[in-house]
Amino acid sequence: MAQVKATKAIGKLEMATRGVAFDTTSRTSSLALIEFIRDYLDDYGVKSELVRDPTMPKANLYATIGAQDRGGILLSGHTDVVPVDDQDWHSDPFALVEKDDRLYGRGSADMKGFIATVLSLVPVLVQRKLREPIHLSFSYDEEIGCVGVRTLIAELVKRPNKPRLAIVGEPTEMQVGVGHKGKRSVRCHVHGHEAHSSLIHLGVNAVEAAAELVAFLKSMARRKRIEGPFDDSYDPPYSSIHTGLIHGGTALNIVPRDCQFDFEIRVLPGEDPGPLIDELRHFAATNILPEMHAVDPATGIDFEQLTDAAGLDTPVDHEATQLAAALSGSNGTIKVAFGTEGGLFSEAGIPTVICGPGSIDQAHKPDEFVALEQIARCETFLRRLVDRLSER
Ligand SMILES: [Zn+2]
Repeated sequence: MAQVKATKAIGKLEMATRGVAFDTTSRTSSLALIEFIRDYLDDYGVKSELVRDPTMPKANLYATIGAQDRGGILLSGHTDVVPVDDQDWHSDPFALVEKDDRLYGRGSADMKGFIATVLSLVPVLVQRKLREPIHLSFSYDEEIGCVGVRTLIAELVKRPNKPRLAIVGEPTEMQVGVGHKGKRSVRCHVHGHEAHSSLIHLGVNAVEAAAELVAFLKSMARRKRIEGPFDDSYDPPYSSIHTGLIHGGTALNIVPRDCQFDFEIRVLPGEDPGPLIDELRHFAATNILPEMHAVDPATGIDFEQLTDAAGLDTPVDHEATQLAAALSGSNGTIKVAFGTEGGLFSEAGIPTVICGPGSIDQAHKPDEFVALEQIARCETFLRRLVDRLSER
């Protein structure tokens, strides 16, 4: 066993307190928290690998505890949190508060409570002889479209000891999540031609062209709602399309030159968002662009993919599902409404389930909390996992 320094163990609540105190809002650097975790693991002789962002001071942390030469189980969490801007908190979001058997703080449920519980068990993990390793993956920029973990996954798939299955500790109240929708988000730029608004025939109105595209998206969304395909284990039970942002024009008396809008498509697992986007492109090319080009051939419509996150659909009888069900003691499985990194792991050949403490109902909101009972259940889950993987 590696040399263990004489360190005072950090309990799960203190670990959660320390974790929440790092402001890891996705727009800021996550390195301080990552380096804290690296140093903590190092104190127990566990070496970490930092897979850094090429452009920002951010990194994924990956570490293996136990045998280095075989697959093992991956425990995965993201270190970033959503902003607290304009939210009405009753306490400092970055100072964990224990009250009424709950821990309040940004990220307490999503997902620092999980990460803290995992880390607090590292002293146990290094003492036990693990037949199969436990891998830890703590990523960045999950909240802005599962961005960070992709570089780590690209590395892992090349390795002979890539995890054989993964448990993502997103808040499911320790129920076993086996599915979620995939999501693709796209930005559309309409480049029109400016003119005085009394001379509209000399201009190309970018706002109006964008409005026609948004209306077409809405008609596709309606068709999905009415015609499906449907899967009743999701709410809503169909793929959804939504435009969330639009910006265009400068003044009422100017034919607007530019308009930009963002839309997203959330597809049922197995459904490809590509053909839906192709349908919009085709509509633009045949119904909108000819009229624009007749006035000015330099006008145009561009589409820019912002994010693309795969859906998750792990079979109920899969070993990953069965393992998580046994560890959590829960009967049955759930499908969740939110996206996770699990879709990406699964797509990369690492079968994944979602199971973590706390509820998504509290995530992203002011006064986010995780119940102490949830943290205790998470600890039980993890201790059972360690027992299973330990040599007898
Ligand atoms: Zn999350």
